[in-house]
Amino acid sequence: MCVNCNKKDDIYLPTLMIPAKSRDGEDIVLEMYDADEIDMLERMEPEILMYFLLKRIGENPNREGLIDTPKRWVKWMNEFLNPKDREFKLTTFDAEGMDEMIIVDNIPFYSFCEHHIAPIVGYGHIAYIPNKKIAGLSKLPRTLDMFAHRLQNQERITMQTAQYLMEHLDPKGVAVSLTARHFCMEMRGVKKHDTWTTTTKLTGVFQSDISAKQEFLNRIKK
Ligand SMILES: [Zn+2]
Repeated sequence: MCVNCNKKDDIYLPTLMIPAKSRDGEDIVLEMYDADEIDMLERMEPEILMYFLLKRIGENPNREGLIDTPKRWVKWMNEFLNPKDREFKLTTFDAEGMDEMIIVDNIPFYSFCEHHIAPIVGYGHIAYIPNKKIAGLSKLPRTLDMFAHRLQNQERITMQTAQYLMEHLDPKGVAVSLTARHFCMEMRGVKKHDTWTTTTKLTGVFQSDISAKQEFLNRIKK
């Protein structure tokens, strides 16, 4: 216990621990203890951090082509990850007896993998069978975008899109299938060009009724 401030004297415990690779490729942990230093970094504008990041990867951030790059990068990251129109109202209408499958397919989507911040680029196929309500058709792509515009993995985007539509439309079932290219797998790692990953989430009747599931899978097969 500190006699002056009555606080526990755990102030020398590391307050920031970041996994890293040493120059020899070993896994290490970078530790920072200095609260003032951490605070200063927290307050630093992201453009400044990006400027130094460019420097540390061997670039000259002052050359003509890069001078505005930190500004541009921060702007577009913000636009992509915190879009102003992320929140939207999922308008619904009376289904008026419509009880067959509604499909919007080949919806282009873009995301970033959370492990490497590399692009995920693909198409989404969304179907539902209405109960009492139908949605404005544009709301299906918007739901997909709402979850794609984050640091993500494809499985989670698929699940979240299906869950959101289940909650807000209360349909008999929702089917979401995403098929996408992962640039972290194509440009690095196994370096397999033009490989497509497909993830599918089925709920309600798409799970219990094999013919509904088959109809969905046949319709999205191109
Ligand atoms: Zn990745």
